[in-house]
Amino acid sequence: MQTPIEKLPATDWLEAATPQEILRWAVTTYRDKLTMATAFGAEGCVLLDMLAKIRDESGLFPDVFNLDTGYQFGQTLSLKTQIEKKYGIQIRAVAPDEGIVAAEARSQSERGGPLYKSDPNECCHWRKVAPLAGAVAGFEAWITAIRRDQTPERAQAPIVGPDKTYPLVKINPLANWSREQVWDYIAAHGVPTNPLHGQGFPSIGCWPCTRPIAAGDDERAGRWAGTEKRECGIHLARR
Ligand code: SF4
Repeated sequence: MQTPIEKLPATDWLEAATPQEILRWAVTTYRDKLTMATAFGAEGCVLLDMLAKIRDESGLFPDVFNLDTGYQFGQTLSLKTQIEKKYGIQIRAVAPDEGIVAAEARSQSERGGPLYKSDPNECCHWRKVAPLAGAVAGFEAWITAIRRDQTPERAQAPIVGPDKTYPLVKINPLANWSREQVWDYIAAHGVPTNPLHGQGFPSIGCWPCTRPIAAGDDERAGRWAGTEKRECGIHLARR
């Protein structure tokens, strides 16, 4: 039996398509085998609004999940509730992998503090990367909200291509969009967003690892500030 990647049709035309056209293609191609990850950043909120409008025409809406690390801001959790109510959807909360319990205990006893301080890569592994495997199991494709101009690591992200870790097709409908296009869409369509964006947080993750940025900083400079870490790992190939 062919894997989702082996049976991926030609998708070159999607490079010049709008995000709405890409999403419409995704929901009609993959139907109940399509899922989306969101941490309720501005881009994810835009995609959910677009998907709700497509659902109103097609009756199709993908599974949506949030990696509930236990460290999300209260504002992020309130936004989840607000979005579920506005669009009449349920978003799966995916809990950390059970390995986090022993890892946190080790960190406390051997290094005297929480894992996010002693080893953020391991913390992200148990709270984000490992749970992602279970969250996408049984699906053929997943939607993410990454943009190419966010970081050098994301600059080569295709609109549609094989996931680097899982046997899934990865769909990045906003890869070609700029931050300005995202915020223009939000203003034009009244999309709910995280109030922290108005307080100097262009990119919002877990509260221990997210800081507001200064004028002129790159938009992910507030994530794991002061370290070399730039990604939690869910968009990187597993080695
Ligand atoms: S972002 Fe920080 S708190 Fe969240 S999982 Fe990663 S290291 Fe842990």
